[in-house]
Amino acid sequence: MSLDRATKEKLVRVLADTVIQHAEELTSLDQAIGDGDHGLNMKRGFEAVLAALPGLADKALPEMLRTIGMTLVMKVGGASGPLVGTFFMELGKALPEAPARADFVAATEQAVTAVKARGRSDAGQKTLLDVLVPVQTVLAEGGDASAIAAEAARAADRTIPMLAIRGRASFLGERSIGHMDPGARSAALLIGAAVATLELEANS
Ligand code: ADP
Ligand code: MG
Repeated sequence: MSLDRATKEKLVRVLADTVIQHAEELTSLDQAIGDGDHGLNMKRGFEAVLAALPGLADKALPEMLRTIGMTLVMKVGGASGPLVGTFFMELGKALPEAPARADFVAATEQAVTAVKARGRSDAGQKTLLDVLVPVQTVLAEGGDASAIAAEAARAADRTIPMLAIRGRASFLGERSIGHMDPGARSAALLIGAAVATLELEANS
């Protein structure tokens, strides 16, 4: 799949708009089991990404993703900034300019591995990895856009009964049970927005 300039710009806008539109929801999730800044953190980061358009979309896909990742590391802050930023930077490092499906599979696997290393964390700890890991598996198994989007939403829901053992929510112990992890929700939102945009382009 070769992404033309207009598609790259649309993709970046949709990702950023989705996060910005859901900032209050992300904040209230983080108020329940964290310090209530996840919505603002992510909004600040994606506003900085939006501000880098339209020039950002002039870059080749790998370079565009690396730039988004570095911007998110610098602007999001908190625990999530380096993790979400690492995900985009690693995707940029791993993807060729015109990726085929197999390239997306390999690159997302590399990016998930990098997030685990950065967070010293893994799936099962009530974090954004509880969305990234199962979604990567669905992608690797050949799932289409709707299967990927459905898994992202379900995976975020599955964090509700989990006990947090990484990040701020882990300080709450058992009281972290019964709430969706904010980082899992933002990851699911980003994945849903990305696959919807790329599917529309593929079918147009
Ligand atoms: P902070 O916790 O510093 O306030 P945010 O509120 O922006 O940062 O982000 C919180 C989210 O970051 C959590 O919901 C969780 O998904 C994710 N997170 C925190 N620590 C880790 C970690 N070690 N590994 C993976 N994800 C983590
Ligand atoms: Mg927080």
